[in-house]
Amino acid sequence: MRSHTTDSMQLEVAIVGAGPVGLLLAGDLAAAGTRTVVWESSPAPSAMPKANGIVGHAAVELEQRGLLSGTGLAVLSPSRFAFGPLSLDLGSDANNPLHILPIPQRRLEELLEARAVAHGARIYRGHTPPRPDHPGR
Ligand SMILES: Cc1cc2nc3c(=O)[nH]c(=O)nc-3n(C[C@H](O)[C@H](O)[C@H](O)COP(=O)(O)OP(=O)(O)OC[C@H]3O[C@@H](n4cnc5c(N)ncnc54)[C@H](O)[C@@H]3O)c2cc1C
Repeated sequence: MRSHTTDSMQLEVAIVGAGPVGLLLAGDLAAAGTRTVVWESSPAPSAMPKANGIVGHAAVELEQRGLLSGTGLAVLSPSRFAFGPLSLDLGSDANNPLHILPIPQRRLEELLEARAVAHGARIYRGHTPPRPDHPGR
């Protein structure tokens, strides 16, 4: 792993970690006009299967950012929720909280990274944050 120091002094925000949280944040900040960089220690995205979907309002938040346009993916809002013997009818609830975005985590990370880069964020893989020259300051 190497440290990346290029123009770090001119950055407004540096994010450590290109997981879903770091990539979403990078996209939001860059979309707002903030100079943003992401340092990710792994040289390549992980191929390990992880989450298979997003549930709840987070799914709506992602859709509202235009993340799904052109992907064929969509947020589902089923009116019935079943969990074992429990069955809830949410069809009459105007504020149905049941939103599901079926998407493998790796695919979500791809979309989030593409959005962040499109807005101008820079993502450096195989890098850790530069150490401050004067840690005491
Ligand atoms: C096998 C497995 C199965 C899972 N299944 C599910 C599931 O079914 N449903 C579900 O909701 N969740 C699941 N999860 C959890 C889900 O993957 C995590 O909640 C999610 O990845 C967290 O996102 P994050 O961005 O916070 O962190 P992460 O995805 O962990 O990303 C953090 C990133 O920071 C990088 N990093 C760390 N330290 C440094 C450093 N010093 N410098 C630079 N980079 C650094 C790491 O390399 C990593 O890429 C699963 C996880 C695993 C491992």
